[in-house]
Amino acid sequence: MTTQPVIDFKKLIESLPDATVIVNRDGKIVLVNAQAELLFGYPRQELLNQPLEILIPVRNRSGHIRERIGYYLSPHIRPMGKGLEIVGLHKDGHEFSADISLSPVEAGEEVLVISSIRDISDRKKIEEALTEEKERLSVTLRSIGDGVITVDSQGRIVFLNRVAEILTGWGQTEAKGRPLLEIFHLLNEKTRQPYEDPVAAVLSTGKIVEIAGPTLLISKEGIERSIVDCAAPIRDPAGKILGVVLVFRDITGKQKMEEELLRTMKLESIGLLAGGVAHDFNNLLTSILGNLDLVMTEKEPRNKRSHWLSQIEKAALRAKEIASQLLTFAKGATPVKRVVSIKELIEEAAGFALPDSNCRCELVFSDPLWLLEVDPGQIIQVIHNLLINASHAMPEGGVLTVGAENITLKNKEARHRSLKPGNYVRVSVKDSGVGISKEHLHKIFDPYFTTKETGTGLGLSNSYSIIKKHHGTISVDSQVGMGSTFSFYLPAATKEISAPSRGEDALHIRHIRVLIFDDDPMIRETAGEILKQIGYEVVYASEEREAVELFRQAKESGEPFDAVILDLNLSNGMGGIDLLARLKGIDPSVRAIVSSKNLEDPVMSDCRKYGFKGRLAKPYDRKDLAKVLHDLLHTL
Ligand code: ADP
Repeated sequence: MTTQPVIDFKKLIESLPDATVIVNRDGKIVLVNAQAELLFGYPRQELLNQPLEILIPVRNRSGHIRERIGYYLSPHIRPMGKGLEIVGLHKDGHEFSADISLSPVEAGEEVLVISSIRDISDRKKIEEALTEEKERLSVTLRSIGDGVITVDSQGRIVFLNRVAEILTGWGQTEAKGRPLLEIFHLLNEKTRQPYEDPVAAVLSTGKIVEIAGPTLLISKEGIERSIVDCAAPIRDPAGKILGVVLVFRDITGKQKMEEELLRTMKLESIGLLAGGVAHDFNNLLTSILGNLDLVMTEKEPRNKRSHWLSQIEKAALRAKEIASQLLTFAKGATPVKRVVSIKELIEEAAGFALPDSNCRCELVFSDPLWLLEVDPGQIIQVIHNLLINASHAMPEGGVLTVGAENITLKNKEARHRSLKPGNYVRVSVKDSGVGISKEHLHKIFDPYFTTKETGTGLGLSNSYSIIKKHHGTISVDSQVGMGSTFSFYLPAATKEISAPSRGEDALHIRHIRVLIFDDDPMIRETAGEILKQIGYEVVYASEEREAVELFRQAKESGEPFDAVILDLNLSNGMGGIDLLARLKGIDPSVRAIVSSKNLEDPVMSDCRKYGFKGRLAKPYDRKDLAKVLHDLLHTL
């Protein structure tokens, strides 16, 4: 038999961790422990025989503690008392939150009430702070301008803010606990097919999911709104997914405004284009009709008639050129693609782009550079346009930087640039010129938009159309007074480099070769030096036989001359016309420029009639030389 331990009641009370105060039937304190002395700041003699209320503020004294005590002392009820939250009063007058538990205990004849009191000030502070934080969060979420919905890990609605209530048409109370898709109906704006559940996508991947727009949200009342939406996981500190938060924005109004703006801008562009075409064609027609009128008044001498006819021809050719540029813009000449290195195309374009400017071109290539599958001629034309514009932006001269680098565009960046994700080569042309004002920035790619007195406004629109045809994109970054950087992205080739084909395209990946035929050594050398500087390969001939031989050899070796410059009146009496006839015998497609100081000579005034493709009036300078060759090589 085990003997019952004898417990010293006082010692037991003393060892309890909570402040303990025992009162008698009258509510007077009969016993306290050290924790109670500490908690209330009274030595125990001062507490004994005092009513329990001494330990609570005066305003709380009437009523419930005493009632509670009476309740516990009633003869019918003997359960343990429940915790009661009270305000405690320290001897020094400060108040604190406390939790009190009352329970009756029989002591001989008497029934006493034991009260265990615990200071809960710290816990209260934390609770209050938490409530405040919760309140603040809820106010923030409710007043936020975007719709916010949170769901639990089962995909059931936990919370909807006010905007979400308005956009979905569902109130917080009725929506709570329902599966998301019951209140959040999303359709693809174009196909009107329902979207998959964004919450399921977040829960399965654990990643942020952006719904690729445009998306329609259909409200409870059937109202359709365009929204942009993203869903993100809510995690606990250990990383476990507790639910998903959806944030979405109504862009219906914004989209309408953008569409409106786009329509206005399109109309402006069409107006500009139509005005430009009308202006150009009017001028050309004026010239054609005026000259025709003169030709038809037969009284005039014959030599004048040929001049008028040549003016008509010139105007008609210019009209043809404009039409072809417009066609490139409208549907883009189909690129004849070949795998090439962009480095060579840039070097080639830079070689002849800036003949009459004080600008210097700096080329910066990252190594290695991916190859491109492009139409070399068209891409050279784009770089050429950008370089010419850059040099125009720096009339005082300066340095232009042309760079090329490899760029891999991931989903988001690619979408941002309206490109497919993948490998691209980015080419940039940077100047430190006048820059482009904000007002002009969105117009510069429009056909016929120009701020230059003699500009055509077709350079950038053609470049844009060429780059689009190559599945790339072109953009500009500019600040007035600081300069501009035009950048275009072209997809990297998936094939190996291909051999240059013969004919026109081969032009663009080797040096352009020019034969100069002139018996004046000074002219030969000066012209040669200039052309070499610009980037051409130059061969000289001082006699007709030598010129014919060099021309034949070049043709037979597969590296024909791209252009020949022939002096019209050699001092020995032989002229460029005879020589041209012999060269045509070797290669009928020879591209020849006639050069003479005698402008009155009919060959000079109407060189095309005599089979030449251009003329160069002596004395000529770098600018004339570069221009005539450029025009010759870029008109087919
Ligand atoms: P154009 O050169 O004949 O005017 P473009 O289409 O090439 O035609 O250019 C359109 C306009 O864009 C130019 O008139 C000019 O106002 C602006 N622009 C283009 N490139 C630059 C540049 N690098 N710096 C400043 N302005 C530029």
